[in-house]
Amino acid sequence: MLSRHAVAHVAGVDVSTEHFIGGERVGSDATFVDLSPIDAQPLAEVARGGDREAALAVAAAREAFPAWAALGAAGRAQHLRRLADLIDANVERLAAVECADMAMLLRSLEARVIPRGARNFRAYADLAAAYEERVWESNGTRNRVIRMPSGPAVVITPWNAPFMLSTWKTAPALAAGCTVILKPAEWSPLSCSLLCDLVAEAGFPPGVFNVVQGIGEEVGAALTRDPGVRRISFTGSPETAVHIGTAAARNIVPFTGELGGKGPLLVFADADLEAAARRAAGQYDDAGQVCLAGTRLLVEGAIEDEFLELFDRFTDGHVLGDPRDDATTVSPLIHPDHLARVEGFVERARANGDEIVRGGRRREDVGPLFYDPTLVLPRSNDSEIVQHEVFGPVLTFQTFADEDEAVALANSTSYGLSGVVYTGSERRAERVGRGGSGGHAVGQHVPRARPDGAVRRGGDLRHRPRGRRLRTRLLLRPEDAPDPGRHDGVSAVDPSR
Ligand code: NAD
Repeated sequence: MLSRHAVAHVAGVDVSTEHFIGGERVGSDATFVDLSPIDAQPLAEVARGGDREAALAVAAAREAFPAWAALGAAGRAQHLRRLADLIDANVERLAAVECADMAMLLRSLEARVIPRGARNFRAYADLAAAYEERVWESNGTRNRVIRMPSGPAVVITPWNAPFMLSTWKTAPALAAGCTVILKPAEWSPLSCSLLCDLVAEAGFPPGVFNVVQGIGEEVGAALTRDPGVRRISFTGSPETAVHIGTAAARNIVPFTGELGGKGPLLVFADADLEAAARRAAGQYDDAGQVCLAGTRLLVEGAIEDEFLELFDRFTDGHVLGDPRDDATTVSPLIHPDHLARVEGFVERARANGDEIVRGGRRREDVGPLFYDPTLVLPRSNDSEIVQHEVFGPVLTFQTFADEDEAVALANSTSYGLSGVVYTGSERRAERVGRGGSGGHAVGQHVPRARPDGAVRRGGDLRHRPRGRRLRTRLLLRPEDAPDPGRHDGVSAVDPSR
């Protein structure tokens, strides 16, 4: 079937490079080149949508909406569950393509990140089916609350973990009865194209799930300003969120943003230092291109030397290399432009008088897009490298004298996505997690080993405005707990939210 269309052969898999609109593959006159981060060579020429493709996709989603909404949560759940099964049956193909396109470690993709996509569809199918109408009497009036889908939803995703993030955002919309137009990021568009094949195989009605490929400022902007759209859900940078939020406001359309991170990783003197240092070194995984990464290391002054020695030991153990290789722990950066951006942050830090105590250079000896795991001792907390998201293998190191200072430093950037606390004291973790005297705060506590092996993990790790607090409630079973030394860019989803 695919041979009729433009197809790229990627990692032994045929991937359509066209859009998926109204259940059909649709081409564009223009294309853009998609590079593989592994060797910086072209992988595919992908259809470059614009106003025409955006309008076609919105029209298809509008046409499909009434019947999809009328199907009811239970009817839609059957489609979502079939799709989940197909994802599970295609993990290897999806992981191979995602690895070639985005360079996340292949073993993480196969073991956790791609299967998580299937879990997302199942979780939201169950959640939507479990919602009940609410009926109550008050002052002689009978009141009834029912949940109605909004209509066509535009979903815009970033290039890191593109498959998982697209499932995370489309699954709740589809389960609720919205139809979807997904615009994947132009630096890693291919796994979402494979998702379209699985959607078709799962028997979704045409127009329920559409994918439009292209550049953010072109087709992304065209989608967000289309008055036929009823919801916009975006994951990406705060800068882009401003554009999309403005477009949404013009049409008075609700807009959800899951944005960038500059998470603190706090280590108190009473913590399991080895575990904390291993976890800190683990923030270089996926070349630090992880929104939830704890990129600001905040360590109690009394244990500075001991911690840094352990951190160095674990960081020395990293292996930069091909993400398909089992020995590799740090993969390349996504794109030459992003490498230049990361390098720019470090060079400006150097010029600012911040001290680069590790790394701080490209690693062309390993491959064209590698950057050394880098540690920066900032001159002050106001340094750009502390206050702004680098989204690369660059951590900062600062010390604190006491708990109050730790909380103040943790809360001293405008990002509120996530945080991790290492301490031996549950009570301190609770206080720090609640943000001390106020402000948003850290959302994950990793205590010393507990008899049942459970760890506490942030229940809500999404970006939220300053002044609101992150919760620290979700108790995971040991088998769900993250390996403290690894970070695959995937946070816990609590479908009860
Ligand atoms: P980005 O903001 O540059 O792009 C994200 C998406 O928006 C892409 O698909 C892009 O094509 C599109 N886009 C760009 N300009 C647009 C416009 N004017 N109108 C409509 N769409 C437009 O982000 P990125 O570089 O792809 O991803 C990295 C960012 O994503 C980081 O800030 C990272 O922290 C964040 N992120 C957040 C989460 C989370 O859950 N909070 C998860 C992953 C990544």
